[in-house]
Amino acid sequence: MKKTSTRLADGRELIYYDLRDDIVRDAADHRPLDRTVTTSEIRRDPLLGDSVAVASHRQGRTYHPPADECPLCPTRDGRLSEIPDSSYDVVVFENRFPSLAGDSGRCEVVCFTSDHDASFADLTEDQARLVLDAWTDRTSELSQLPAVEQVFCFENRGAEIGVTLGHPHGQIYAYPFTTPRTALMLRSLAAHKEATGGDNLFDDVLARELAGERVVLEGEHWAAFVPHAAHWPYEVHLYPKRRVPDLLALGEAARTEFAQVYLELLRRFDRIFGTGEPPTPYIAAWHQAPFGASAEFDGVTRDDFALHLELFTIRRTPGKLKFLAGSESGMNVFINDVPPERAAERLREVASS
Ligand SMILES: [Zn+2]
Repeated sequence: MKKTSTRLADGRELIYYDLRDDIVRDAADHRPLDRTVTTSEIRRDPLLGDSVAVASHRQGRTYHPPADECPLCPTRDGRLSEIPDSSYDVVVFENRFPSLAGDSGRCEVVCFTSDHDASFADLTEDQARLVLDAWTDRTSELSQLPAVEQVFCFENRGAEIGVTLGHPHGQIYAYPFTTPRTALMLRSLAAHKEATGGDNLFDDVLARELAGERVVLEGEHWAAFVPHAAHWPYEVHLYPKRRVPDLLALGEAARTEFAQVYLELLRRFDRIFGTGEPPTPYIAAWHQAPFGASAEFDGVTRDDFALHLELFTIRRTPGKLKFLAGSESGMNVFINDVPPERAAERLREVASS
């Protein structure tokens, strides 16, 4: 992998990640952009103890542009985009309309391929591996920023999820705090360690799931299952079999196998509802141990955390979406219409032959 860092016209950082080591990336950004002024404020809810990022500058952001005005396509035929070069493999840049900025963290965009009409599932294993390497490098770099405590790499796919750009891309949020979901996991880890005299909750959950009926696929280094209490109609958790706290700690063999396993999972997701349906909308979310002092919790350290990816769709049946309605949005209690055992069975049925 070759990494080339540059600056866009408004001062934002952009990084090319290339498969070929002899590539030269020296195109300049010729757009007349003003320096970005971003204001983002983290407000804490006194009753729930969680945080809300208030980012009013996002109102003017690009919303469903026509394909020939896509800001994530490379710059070609005199049409200037966010990416100054005329081609790329994987590119990462600071979001022009970030939800988190300055002392409140950082938001980046990850373009998975220069092919506007592709999706992650269309990538080759080499390309998918390059994205994994880019996620890993960004986790390393962002975790070193003084304000940052947690790095979250994710992809929202599909207009139903609220994606405003069709080009295959994901995002990285670097938060200045440990997120509520991660804090809950750390709390459960600590309670389990205490209750069992030292056992690791992630290890126990993985062992139990692998012995059960909700396994979706298993490789030498990775295993994927629908969890016992899945929140979403189709939800898969993908774990490296050897527990590591974050992407940086993944071994070489696991990194190589990841591309294969993850592409297969995404391709199965697109087949869940049969042919003739639009591509399955999904969210893919990496869970990594936080950095900094808040990773230490009640006898638990960041090494107790297990890196994993949670992949889920909000589609229930063809043409029907699961909305977060009263119980979910009002009380945080999920109602799931698809039994997790049935979801796992379906995800095995649609395996690539
Ligand atoms: Zn595009």
